[in-house]
Amino acid sequence: MARVVLRNLRKSFGALEVIKGVDLEIEDGEFCVFVGPSGCGKSTLLRMISGLEPHTSGAIEIGGRDVSGAEPSERGIAMVFQNYALYPHLTVRENIGFGLSLARVPKEERNRKVDAVAEVLQLGPYLDRKPKALSGGQRQRVAIGRAIVRDPEVFLFDEPLSNLDAALRSQMRIELTELHERLGSTMVYVTHDQVEAMTMADKIVVLNGGRIEQVGTPMELYESPATPFVAGFIGSPQ
Ligand code: ADP
Ligand code: MG
Repeated sequence: MARVVLRNLRKSFGALEVIKGVDLEIEDGEFCVFVGPSGCGKSTLLRMISGLEPHTSGAIEIGGRDVSGAEPSERGIAMVFQNYALYPHLTVRENIGFGLSLARVPKEERNRKVDAVAEVLQLGPYLDRKPKALSGGQRQRVAIGRAIVRDPEVFLFDEPLSNLDAALRSQMRIELTELHERLGSTMVYVTHDQVEAMTMADKIVVLNGGRIEQVGTPMELYESPATPFVAGFIGSPQ
């Protein structure tokens, strides 16, 4: 498990500065949600934490270690995207275990780990199916399973539910909250959906134009929004 600290983090694409000095501490085991309108820099911030996108200046610490120059594979993180691509020709078992195969984990150990993950995600009955024979929610669970099986210290989610229909989204919100309670790992979760933020977060970070507008618990943001922007965003109907 690990604490994530961002220090005066900045990112420019050419002359365009999109992250304008972000300071943030995400506690060990916290479910931290980045929320804000489209284009405010949520994905860029997450991709910098993952190492998929280099930052322009500032520093990122994960578990007390400065990971600023480290490769994604060296950061102890796993990422779940909105457009999760499963391998269509592989079964659920093979999809979940794929990273372990690459890491040459022996088959028996691999199967044991995949079975444990499948139990947590209630995918046991589907392990021999191909992705096309799964529902949207089951596919998303497989994508999450691929992240869990690697036993990361920090999970990074970028709008993982935005392609699901409303009923499934609310079910997955509950499942992800339960998963967090069960694993106790640090989770950084990006969404533009304030309902997701308010129902899932220990801590919400409201972003606007590449800056943090406010950080607080859902109740703090609801009861005392720091700016009209926060009030408008948190208070607006979905
Ligand atoms: P969000 O996830 O909050 O919708 P993004 O982090 O994707 O926002 O984007 C933040 C800003 O950075 C936007 O103005 C976007 O156009 C810009 N941006 C993101 N990625 C790139 C890139 N690779 N090159 C140039 N501009 C980018
Ligand atoms: Mg985004």
